[in-house]
Order: sequence, then C-alpha cells, then structure tokens
Amino acid sequence: MSASTETAVAPPGLSAITATPMPAHRPDWERGLLGDPKLLREIAETIGGPFHLMYPERIVANIRAFGEVFTRARVHGAIYYGKKANKAECVVRACAEAGCGVDVASFDELQAAIAGGVRGADLMVTGPAKSDRLLEQATRDGALIAVDDQDELDRLSAVEGPSRVLLRVLPPGSSSRFGMTDEELDRALLLADTDSIRLHGFSFHLSGYEAAPRADLAHTLIRRCREARRLGHPMTTISIGGGFGVDYVSAQAWEEFRKGVNPRWFHGDRAPRSAYYPYHCPLPGPSMLAAILGRGDLADRLRSAGIALAIEPGRALLDHAGITVFGIQGIKTRLAHGVPYDILTANGTSLSLSEQWFDSEYLPDPVLWPQRPGNLTPTCVGGSSCLEDDMLSRRRIPLPRPATTDDLLIYPNTAGYQMDSNESSFHGLPIPPKVVLRSSPDERQFNWRLDTAPDAI
Ligand SMILES: *Cc1c(COP(=O)(O)O)cnc(C)c1O
Repeated sequence: MSASTETAVAPPGLSAITATPMPAHRPDWERGLLGDPKLLREIAETIGGPFHLMYPERIVANIRAFGEVFTRARVHGAIYYGKKANKAECVVRACAEAGCGVDVASFDELQAAIAGGVRGADLMVTGPAKSDRLLEQATRDGALIAVDDQDELDRLSAVEGPSRVLLRVLPPGSSSRFGMTDEELDRALLLADTDSIRLHGFSFHLSGYEAAPRADLAHTLIRRCREARRLGHPMTTISIGGGFGVDYVSAQAWEEFRKGVNPRWFHGDRAPRSAYYPYHCPLPGPSMLAAILGRGDLADRLRSAGIALAIEPGRALLDHAGITVFGIQGIKTRLAHGVPYDILTANGTSLSLSEQWFDSEYLPDPVLWPQRPGNLTPTCVGGSSCLEDDMLSRRRIPLPRPATTDDLLIYPNTAGYQMDSNESSFHGLPIPPKVVLRSSPDERQFNWRLDTAPDAI
C-alpha cells in the first residue's frame, strides 16, 4: 500500500485535507491473504456482508511469546486471556491448545471458556460483586477468584469450598472503583476462614500501558504476601492484570499523525474529542513483561519468595490475530475547502469498530482491496445506518486510488476490542460473522470456516 501511495500524484491542496498515512504492521498470514487473488472475494461472496476474520495460530504464537519471557526470567508465570477483548470461540480454543488460562467476569464467559476446552483450574474470575451463582460455579471448577470486596468473601464462606482466592488491590493513589484499600485488605487477611477460603495472593489491574507502576506494585505485594503467610494463608500468586500494549503502526507514522492532527483532516472539520489509543508502542506485549520482570530485580524477588506472577492480557494476546472486512455499498464525492474527497458507505456499521463509541478513532489505515496503484484519494468511511455519526473513519484516509463498489475495505489488527464489544443488530443489520482462517499443513494455502460462538447478545 505504501508503495502505491508514494507513486500517486497529489493535486495541489490535497495534503491540507488529508490525514497522514497510518499503514499498519502486517503479519505474514495477512500478506498472504491480501496477495491471494481469489480467497477474500470467495469468503465475501459466501458471507454476503461484512465479516471478521480470525487467525488463531497467531494467538498461540502470542501466548508462547509471553511464556518464553517467563522461561527466560526463570519465573513461574501464569497467563490468563482477558476474555472480554473478543468473544470468538476460536480464541478460547487457542488458549486451551496452548495451555493458557482465561480471565472471565461473568457466568456466561465462564461457561464459554469451559466449553472451549479450558480447565476450571486454569480460570481466573474477576469483576466486581460477582453473583452467588458465579462464585459457586467458580469454586466447584477450582478457578482462582479475584475477590473485589469483603461482601464477596462473606458470601464465599457460605459456599461449599474451599475456594481459591486472590484479593484485588486498590492501587495506591488510584480513584478506581475496583479493589480493596489497605485497611480492607488487612481485615480480610485477619478474618478469612482458612478452611473455606484459601488466600492465594493478590491481584490488580492498572489503566495505562506502563511497565514501572506494575512492577512497583508487584514488589509491594511480595512483602505483603510474606506477611500474610504468617497468618496461615498460602499466598502463591500475584496477578498484575492486563494492559500490555500493542504496536499497531511505526513510530514515524504515529509521530507524524500526532504532530499534524487537526480538524481539517476530518469529515465536517470535526476531530474526535477523546484521546487516541497509543497506536505506536515501543515495548509491546512480551517486551513489556520482560521490562516489568527486570525492574528492581522483580524476577529474583518472585523466585526467592516462591511466588508465581500471573498476567491477564486481552488485547496483546490478540495482536495480529484478526482483521475486519467490509464491502462498499456506495460512494459520493464532496468538497472540503475546495478539494474533492470521497465518502464511502461500508456494508456494515461503526459498531464493528469500537473506537468511535468512545469519541475516538481507530487509526490504523484500512486497505482498499484489490491493491492497485492509482490517484491518491482522500476518503472517509461511513456506516450503512441512518445515523449521522455512524462513521468508521471520519478522518480522510489517503487511499492510493478511488474506491469502487466492487472493492473490499480491510481494517487491520481488529481482533482486540474492535470487533464485538459494541456490536448489536442495530437497524436489523446482521452482526458480522467471524470467519476462522487456518494455514494448510504445507502452509501454501488457507482453509476457512465459520466460528461457532453463539452470536453476541
Ligand atoms: C480488561 C481487563 C483485562 C485485560 O486488559 P487488556 O488491556 O486487554 O490487556 C485484564 N484484567 C482485568 C481485571 C480487566 O478488567
């Protein structure tokens, strides 16, 4: 795509109304798929509407990459996939295949994980004020339960146990509504009935994507684990939650976007009001884990205390594991400050590209397929609903040629949170199905099938 962008000749004034290019990093499987002259068309014609495409082999590779960081640091690690990031059944199956746990926050998520082949003992149950039904099932399954307050502990004491419990910590200085204060933790450690409740350690989940605060809080909690052991609690595990970053675009593309971004790049001269996800991440996923384990010799401290480090990555396990494919239903040309640009109507809605719902925008550029050179064309992408604000891309993307209604538009790296967290059958439009793509054993071609997870509710 970048090659054809460079060869296109830009008429004067175009750059003023066009966003800078944000080409996504592209994994080999995606290059192979985009390079195949027929397969995407075949899938699109069979489905007859927009679809998400998942590549679970990549999830297995992502899990292994995190696992290797633990091995190299000689730390006992446990990985729990933060399930809310994508509902597809193939993700849970990939976790089961790779021996990875799943972090669930509802009864339905728990059932979906078990049905996908994950062992009960490999589940982590998080979320506030869990229902009795969820607490009972989690105890029966032998899951680790991250308890958010004393009330949950009291209700767990009444469940036939023992229950395996982590206490969720309110991070110091945080205004989060989740977790327990120091006093609440002290009280829980003193009062917990060690027969029915096995306190296995602490958990937390921080916003942001920084290594240092995660490592620092883990250090504090190692000390607390040692103290709590004197009260007879096993204290085997510290979970540092999710929030491992994903590197969507190059440092240069991200810098140029951030330096230049202004309302004139957007349809209606209206830029999103909220912050953007940091689409370039210098220490993504496993490298961030390595940085955490290296800070203040955290790895050594964990090892000498005999404590396992649990992580709950959602987005980072789905890096490069999926794309979203739309057809184009219509095209109109408009003027912005005297310069023409195109507005496409995709055959789906922005409910399938979640950032719009946070008044932000998903910045990795979609690919216009088939890929051919042409004249650089600033292009916005609208959804097929009647809502003015239903736009997949408000910014004018520098597409390498004008789109036609025979083309497909492919948004890259959408498996983490973009696909299904906000989907609904608004307007009676069908929810895009998920297609599971696999390489054939000789890796020369792909096979595809539909994911079997029940539709989003
Ligand atoms: C959302 C969430 C995660 C996953 O977060 P990512 O940013 O996707 O890694 C993990 N743990 C808890 C408790 C969460 O709420």
